[in-house]
Order: sequence, then structure tokens, then C-alpha cells
Amino acid sequence: MDRIVLLPGDGIGPEVVVEARRVLETVASAQGLDLEFAEELIGGASIDAHGSPLRDEVIDLCRESSAVLLGAVGGPKWDAMAVDVRPEKGLLGIRKALGLFANLRPAAVIPALADASTLRPEVVEGIDLLVVRELTGGIYFGEPRGRGEEGGKRRGWNTMVYDEDEVARITRVAFEQARLRRNHVTHVHKANVLDVCQLWMDVVEEVAKDYPDVTLAHQLVDSCAMLLVRDPGRFDVMVTGNLFGDILSDQAAEITGSLGMLPSASLATGGFGLYEPVHGSAPDIAGQDKANPLAAILSVAMLLETSLACPAGAAAVRGAVSHVLAAGHRTGDLVLEGEAREVIGCREMGRQVLAALEAK
Ligand code: NAD
Repeated sequence: MDRIVLLPGDGIGPEVVVEARRVLETVASAQGLDLEFAEELIGGASIDAHGSPLRDEVIDLCRESSAVLLGAVGGPKWDAMAVDVRPEKGLLGIRKALGLFANLRPAAVIPALADASTLRPEVVEGIDLLVVRELTGGIYFGEPRGRGEEGGKRRGWNTMVYDEDEVARITRVAFEQARLRRNHVTHVHKANVLDVCQLWMDVVEEVAKDYPDVTLAHQLVDSCAMLLVRDPGRFDVMVTGNLFGDILSDQAAEITGSLGMLPSASLATGGFGLYEPVHGSAPDIAGQDKANPLAAILSVAMLLETSLACPAGAAAVRGAVSHVLAAGHRTGDLVLEGEAREVIGCREMGRQVLAALEAK
């Protein structure tokens, strides 16, 4: 029996997670998986109920489970709170506490949605890349950090620090993923300026020796950002640190044109993972049945593949999503301005995916 913890969170989080759960239940029964669900609060919802964005009990429950499916956290209601007690602290906290060191964000253009990108169709065609971002180290966690005053001037500082083991384990994740895809890894760095990136260079080269079937390229982060909009089809797997990965994965998401379509996985060692849509809590449409649940549903596909070792279930989910889109069903975020098309809600999109799954 595998226990899945649901952390719907705030805003549209609960709306998309409920659809994703229905999909997971349907696939589980078709594939003979034995699942049990537990649901808990995180983010603003947890602040309101318990005074803290993430309780220790929730972390313990996640530790005793096979995977976590999270919606989104945050919203204007909690924006004025101090940084260390805000909903986002719940997300950073759970990543750290569960040792989720590898963040995987695929960005692929689904043919039926190629028009949604701001880039020209011939540039967008063939985008199918995966950003593998180190998630628990680097400048977001490095010490010393702080703000102070020196010589009458205010100062602020952070530290970008990695040790060789942290670099090696994320690099291995990237090479393993490349083996499941097109066997190419691009290491993104700023080694011409940053010493820490010179360490990355050395370690990535060492790890690459264990993967002779995978090709490796090194790319400066600034030129990588340019290439991502000029020729995104050249990338297969990108591996990089926390800061560069944060920025590039959002850029990669945007070029596919549909935030409501993008899943993600954050993995620990041993197959445990936290799966969540890339988008936030979308307070502007929360509670109106307007959210696109497909990013959450595609996160379920990643969960099936990685934490439940059920690639057939993952393929069934992806196939059902492609089928529904090819049939012309769209939530509001997928409809272009001026396009005359019927818009369906979150619930109906979920129903369509279930119907496509059950029709197989
Ligand atoms: P957002 O992703 O919530 O929304 C950006 C825009 O995209 C909005 O117009 C929204 O309506 C739309 N959108 C997002 N997801 C959608 C979906 N599934 N279907 C249809 N439309 C969708 O980003 P934001 O507005 O910058 O942030 C809102 C809140 O979410 C903030 O409090 C922020 O801190 C939080 N946030 C949380 C996460 C997370 O939980 N991982 C990530 C990003 C932002």
C-alpha cells in the first residue's frame, strides 16, 4: 500500500488538486495500485488554522508516505506578513525537511497548444526540455546571509555555496533523466565569474564519465537565457544550481505559453517526491471554477512514473490530456485573445480527462 499526502494549499490549489486526485484514483484502480490518501493544510490555510504555514506533524506524515501532491500556496491575504512566517515559508520548509534536492520541470509544447506561445511557431515547434534544478542548496540557503550597516551604509549579503556531493547527486539525476529522453545534458553555469561554478564544472565532468552514452555541453547562464528564446528545441536536459534554475525554469515555462499546463517534481533520494503544478495560487480566479487543472493532473503523471514506478499509468494520463486538448476542450487560460472557442471550467476539464481515461 502506498500513502499519498494531499496538500491542496491556497487559492486554486484545492480546486486543481481535487481533479488530480480523481485522475490518480482512476489510474490506480486500472493499474492495480493500492493507494491510501491523507489530506493536510499548508501555506496560508495552515496559518489561518494553526498559526504556522507548515507543522511538524505534516512533515512527519509526508516522511511516512510514498509521495506528496501539492496545489499552491500564498495569496494577498498573507502578503503583509513577515517573510519567515509567510505561506511561501511552508514550501521552502517542506523542501528542506524532506530533503527534496532535485527539482524537475519539463517544458514541452503540446501540438494542439503551439499557438499559445509568444514565440513564432517555427521556434516553438519541438520544444521538449527538462530543467533539473538543485533545490536545497546554493544562494537561497547559504550562510552567511543577512543585512546590516557598515561605515554608515546599509548592506545586504548572501552566500552561494555548494559541496561536491550536492553537485554530484543532482548531476546524476540529470544524467539518469537524459537516459529516459534524448541522451543530452546541458550544464548551465557562470564559471567565468563564480568560483562555486568552477567546482560544478569539475564535478559535472567527473560524473559524466559514468554516462558515456549521454553527451554533455556546458553553457553560460546568460547565453543560455538567450538560446532559450532563440532556439529552445536544441535543449534536452538542463542541469543547474538553485538560483539559475529558478529563473530559467520560469523562462522555459513561459515559452511554452501555458502556465496552467506545466507540472513539476521535487525528488529526494529513494523515489520519494513532492509533485506540484508550476503555477501559483492564482487568487484572481480562485473559487470561480476557472482554473486549468491539467498542470496538477500532469504532475500526477510524474508521480506515477517516479514515486509509484508505474510508467504505464503515467502514459495513460498524458495520453488522456493530449486527447482532451486535441478534441478542442480548453479552460480560459488556453484560449487566445479573439479566438472564438467554448471555454470550460476546472471541474469539466477534470471530467473530460476522466472520460478519456475510462474510454481507453
Ligand atoms: P500565479 O501562477 O498564481 O498566477 C499568474 C497568472 O496565471 C494569473 O493571472 C493566474 O490567474 C494565471 N494562472 C495560474 N495558474 C493558472 C491555472 N491553473 N489556470 C488558469 N490560470 C492560471 O502567480 P502570481 O499571480 O504571481 O502569484 C499568486 C500567488 O501564488 C502569490 O501569493 C505567490 O506567492 C503564489 N505562488 C505560489 C507558488 C507555489 O505554490 N508553488 C508559485 C508561484 C506563486
